[in-house]
Amino acid sequence: MKTPLDAQKIRDDFPILQTRVYDKPLVYLDNAATTQKPRQVIDRVISYYYQNNSNAHRAKYFLAEKSSELYESARETVRKFIGAANSQEIIFTSGTTASINLVAQSLRKFYFKKDDEIIITEMEHHSNLVPWQMVCKDVGASLKVIPFDDEGVLRIKSLESMFTEKTRLIAVTHVSNVTGVINPVKEIIVRAHAYNIPVLLDGAQSISHLPIDVEILDCDFFVFSGHKMYAETGTGVLYGKQKWLEQMFPVQYGGGMVLSVDFDNTTFADLPFRFEAGTQNIAGAISIAAAIDYMNDIGINAIHSHEKQLLQYAADALGDIDQVTLYAESATKSGLLSFNINNVSPFDVSMILDKMAIAVRSGTHCAQPVMKHLGIDGTVRVSFALYNTVEEVDVLVKGVRRAVQILQ
Ligand code: PLP
Repeated sequence: MKTPLDAQKIRDDFPILQTRVYDKPLVYLDNAATTQKPRQVIDRVISYYYQNNSNAHRAKYFLAEKSSELYESARETVRKFIGAANSQEIIFTSGTTASINLVAQSLRKFYFKKDDEIIITEMEHHSNLVPWQMVCKDVGASLKVIPFDDEGVLRIKSLESMFTEKTRLIAVTHVSNVTGVINPVKEIIVRAHAYNIPVLLDGAQSISHLPIDVEILDCDFFVFSGHKMYAETGTGVLYGKQKWLEQMFPVQYGGGMVLSVDFDNTTFADLPFRFEAGTQNIAGAISIAAAIDYMNDIGINAIHSHEKQLLQYAADALGDIDQVTLYAESATKSGLLSFNINNVSPFDVSMILDKMAIAVRSGTHCAQPVMKHLGIDGTVRVSFALYNTVEEVDVLVKGVRRAVQILQ
């Protein structure tokens, strides 16, 4: 099978992919948890520390200016990548989780009140569930949940019937981190906006797989993590429409986010700095920009088609194994799939695959309500990146067949 990418060539950019595990070549299929990092990203970070390291937005000497310049240029790279109108709408955070908590805690201070309603979906990662649940508990609001059907598709036909005059926000994942189902987020946004309800999209599983344009989507917030898009861990982004960010209160206070301070009062800096208290992860932001440059060189559309082909190939081959149950088999998916070997613990399957140097995730994937709906303890999750190959899928399928023999 030929895909639009020369994955073999791309693999040379990723030093870790040469690793041998138990004396076998590593097959890394846990990219939804975190992707590996290309030399281009690692080198950019090293070069920052070798040549440019100093604090950003603090001083006026040569290195300080350089550091600030690189940090702001990273912000601009992110802005362009997601199609935001201006770079004030881009806030660097430590990841998706931090971005969602920032929005939740900030809105809690002035926006949510008793009896309000926040809508999420049944397929959210805990990071897009618990922060809203906690806000609800704090202010006396309630959480409403859009269910998914047997194919893992959100039941949004009667979405409007969930809306009341108290509905204050919808928070939904763009792509499920359990099934890979792509949610109809544009449709949800259009329908929510007709009732003046803002929408937050969790882009953790879409940012490195699908083209994103926040202006076209018209989402109010879009959040993602750097480490799931070939950049460093502990990095992430909160995009917020200016009209929202301007009203929002900071949730962390300290250096770099103020205009004036005395013992009675503090005035906050302009956007985006008021949300970036303290010394930021400057090298991390630079790594996100390097990762975006890397993906842009390859092209997000080519990445998407490549991964889509791998996904279909893997789904067909795993689906041919009688003892395997695939989840959300017929839904439109991106980047990943989940399965179980019937009556076998997913942990046992992943341990056997590990012995064949195949790295996959098993468990609840931080989405326990999804497991409850499916009536299972967990799944085995296979997730792709731009460097995965058809040959690796063949190794996986062989491994799963072997696991069936051993475990059943
Ligand atoms: N949301 C989704 C859909 C995810 O898949 C993940 C991580 O797996 C997160 C949120 C949390 O991301 P992070 O741990 O980088 O904050």
